Amino acid sequence: MQKSYSRRAKDEVLNFEIKNNCCAAAQLAGMLLFGGSVSENKIRLASENSALTEKFCALFERVFLYKIETRQEKNFYTAELCNKDITERVLKTFALTDPSGGRLIRRRISPDLVRKKCCKRAFVRGAFLGGATIVDPSRNYNLEFVTHFRGLARDFSELLGELSFKTGMGERAGNCIIYTKNSETICDILAAVGAYGAQMEMLNVKIEKELRNGMNRSVNGETANYDKAVSAAVKQLKAIEKIENGMGIKNLPDDLRDLAYMRIKHKDAPLSELGALFTPPLTKSGVSHRMKRLMDIADKN
Ligand SMILES: [Zn+2]
Repeated sequence: MQKSYSRRAKDEVLNFEIKNNCCAAAQLAGMLLFGGSVSENKIRLASENSALTEKFCALFERVFLYKIETRQEKNFYTAELCNKDITERVLKTFALTDPSGGRLIRRRISPDLVRKKCCKRAFVRGAFLGGATIVDPSRNYNLEFVTHFRGLARDFSELLGELSFKTGMGERAGNCIIYTKNSETICDILAAVGAYGAQMEMLNVKIEKELRNGMNRSVNGETANYDKAVSAAVKQLKAIEKIENGMGIKNLPDDLRDLAYMRIKHKDAPLSELGALFTPPLTKSGVSHRMKRLMDIADKN
């Protein structure tokens, strides 16, 4: 059985390599707050995805130098920590206890943990793994993060805002939902968390939908120029997808990698407009030359 779109996106995020230790802590906090449970003397995370539980344990060991054991219960893989000293350290590091010294757990995002942009993204990665569901784009555009805790939902939607992601907030069955139905925002968030394959899949669905609309337009007697630009862009995006599935976009020479990302971001811009977006700007023939090299690499990939 093919894995769900949501699961494929999460598997990509699980494979994302975290370079900085600051980001490891932020991602761990995101996973714990959105996907786990915390009390005064216990920390726990359970998932049907064994790789997700393993990732949690690996990050935990990296940040707190302590190995949590996992166990399997039916279809769930559970990581549970019952060591009081370590739990206390976690609560302190993630600022999950009342600053006035009370014992109450407060599930909020510590500003210290997400001060840097790299760490903001890392927290979103953790929240994505722990609490996100994303609908298959061929059905609908919808990404949502779910939590029981209103304060956490508010903090998180503010954090997404700081990264320029516009989301809405709502409630369902006593849970807070932070959501977006905007395909561009979803694509941007997928890229920010490192789910490039899922982003590409969504872009392809979008392009195909737009292409179909465009074809209807020309059938209706309107200009075919739009169709031409779109079908060129579709070819380019398919080539970029091929490269991503082969050698990986990130392994392209710098100038081609930048062009690939620019095309992904501005999927239906004509080459002249694409060139204008670079600093310094590129001429149309400059972009066209680079695009040819990119397509050649895709052919050989
Ligand atoms: Zn960081």
